Amino acid sequence: ESFDELDLSPVMRLAIAKAGFTKPSPIQAALIPYALAGTDVIGQARTGTGKTAAFSIPILEQLDSLEECRDPQAIIVVPTRELADQVAGEAARLAYGVPTEIAILSGGKNMNRQLRQLENGVQVVVGTPGRIHDHLQRGTLRLDKTWCVVLDEADRMLDIGFRPQIERIMRKCPRNRQTLLLSATLPPVVRRLAESYMSEPVVIDC
Ligand code: AMP
Repeated sequence: ESFDELDLSPVMRLAIAKAGFTKPSPIQAALIPYALAGTDVIGQARTGTGKTAAFSIPILEQLDSLEECRDPQAIIVVPTRELADQVAGEAARLAYGVPTEIAILSGGKNMNRQLRQLENGVQVVVGTPGRIHDHLQRGTLRLDKTWCVVLDEADRMLDIGFRPQIERIMRKCPRNRQTLLLSATLPPVVRRLAESYMSEPVVIDC
């Protein structure tokens, strides 16, 4: 399979080529069409499978410009600061040629900088549950324009004990949003989270 079959814009194809990707990984080939169609997806995938690009590409493809919308349109929730940096880096790389405001909201980052960034407008938030929740409590982050939520490494986030924060984040997003859940394993706690906060999800296993 090739990226040409995925119905992506020319600018995205160029970004993908610039990243050095020649063909989609299995999770990308399976997830991207569903994500572009607005379907909720549970993707069973480990690190190294290309899962980051699998959810980043359809999000970047569908973003309105900052002039059209200053509040986050997509929020990517990850378990650790390191992963937040990695995911934001990969997303920025795939946004090649298209000005895209991506904010990292994690505990490792300076609060004032985050506040300034949010005030100036962001299109995508990548962050850890604790710090995202913090911003929701302070009223500095609004999720009412968010049409896509990604829960990355959901099993790890639940292991760490982030369930209350994740649930509050999900409840702040519009009801008709899309939810993409990625997890290396699908134990009952992850399935219960999906049942509560996802709508008729398709399950893909790569
Ligand atoms: P991930 O599983 O998202 O952590 O990605 C693992 C690594 O694979 C990252 O360095 C990506 O940049 C790279 N990668 C993702 N998709 C592809 C692809 N289609 N072809 C080659 N490398 C890729």
